[in-house]
Amino acid sequence: MAPLVIAHRGASGYLPENTHAATVLAHAQRADAVETDVVLTKDGHVLVNHDLWLDGVSDVARRFPGRERADGHFYALDFTLDEILSLSATDAFDVRDGRDVPVFPDRFPLWQSTFGFQTLDSQLQLLRGLQKSTGRPMGVFVELKTPWWHEREGVDLVVPALEVLARNGYRTRADGAWVISFDPHALQRIHHEAGPAAGVDLPLTQLIASPDSDETYEKRPDGSWARYDYTPMHDAAAMPSIRTYADALGPDYHHLVSVDGGTVIDNGLTAAAHDAGLLVAPWTIRADQLPPWASSMDGVLDVLVRDIGVDSITTDFPDIARAYLDRT
Ligand code: CA
Repeated sequence: MAPLVIAHRGASGYLPENTHAATVLAHAQRADAVETDVVLTKDGHVLVNHDLWLDGVSDVARRFPGRERADGHFYALDFTLDEILSLSATDAFDVRDGRDVPVFPDRFPLWQSTFGFQTLDSQLQLLRGLQKSTGRPMGVFVELKTPWWHEREGVDLVVPALEVLARNGYRTRADGAWVISFDPHALQRIHHEAGPAAGVDLPLTQLIASPDSDETYEKRPDGSWARYDYTPMHDAAAMPSIRTYADALGPDYHHLVSVDGGTVIDNGLTAAAHDAGLLVAPWTIRADQLPPWASSMDGVLDVLVRDIGVDSITTDFPDIARAYLDRT
């Protein structure tokens, strides 16, 4: 079966990430699904946003000076939905020497036109509306962003997100939604308890971070929080245990290959995952951020799709992935 094309935060290579505009363009570019990150607001709404904070994609620092935490970030959890909906969103940027510098200089210009935030509820309504008006459904991969961090803050992201999915008709494996996360404890909780309690049985993807990453922390029996070590998840031996609660493995695509000089070799993790019954859903393929071993996005896809046989292509450029699959 041809791999699914998953538009990463929408067609984010062309429009500000996670906006409705980026979702609509992904649909027009014939993505099979859109990947959508979610966090909680202060008043408990499930907000579409990649980071826990709003700076870096919005004017929150200018609009609400003094509302940042000690680390300098303006957390979505510290703002009400009404406050967040009043912000302007833009393409991702860093602040350097007091200036906004785009993360991807060749993408949509910063602060141009008008974009804003939306809730997961609104995002799912958009997908349902497009399905009705165009006759073509587009699936959704909802990424729960750092559920462990929300728990440490005393709030729960998991159940509200499942409730929004259920309310919009995403309850069974035939409904076109996946739940994905780096946090294995959150996924296990959904599989064993929170999913059944919410009347939701959706497929789950275990995203895996670098062995040295501090993406996830886990609660120890004494109540303290310790860094979760992803090293074992990079080993073929871990696949059967991941399969006990997840349907797919979501690694950085660089973690599926070994590079020896100029040669790129399948490192075998994909086959091990497939043997265990897991799909393999690597991220994130970007035409404007290529690995040293590829001179174009097609070169990356040759390795991942043709040579390794992954099950989906998560990309900021769904049109390039779709054109590649149409051709091959
Ligand atoms: Ca994501």
